[in-house]
Amino acid sequence: MPQDGCIFCKIAAHSVPSEIVFEDDLVVAFKDLRPLAPVHLLIVPKRHIADLNDVPGSDEPLYGRIVWVASALAKKQGIAETGWQLFCRVGKGGGQEVGHVHFHLISGNRC
Ligand code: 5GP
Ligand code: ZN
Repeated sequence: MPQDGCIFCKIAAHSVPSEIVFEDDLVVAFKDLRPLAPVHLLIVPKRHIADLNDVPGSDEPLYGRIVWVASALAKKQGIAETGWQLFCRVGKGGGQEVGHVHFHLISGNRC
């Protein structure tokens, strides 16, 4: 179920515009609004989940898929050889601002 007021649920539902670079039935990836690097994408499970503390065991394949999507997008964006980061912040203390799980895919060595 989409969470009322959740910006990433709205992006996943195409009710708020974003620059989507990949989408399937489970995952959407789009450009970060305030990029920290020349390539800065967010890879997001479509189903609302607040943070990685809430991941059910049944979602194990979904997170494998997210890693595969990151790897495929890194190749497509031309950063596979030069290097990239994939990370997820968890909770306010972990620096998470948007309360819907998302993975940052960022070119180079910065976060
Ligand atoms: P966090 O700090 O939660 O790990 O990262 C949230 C990220 O979401 C930030 O990098 C921020 O720029 C991005 N962001 C926040 N709101 C929007 C939005 O409406 N559209 C897009 N494309 N990115 C957003
Ligand atoms: Zn959401």
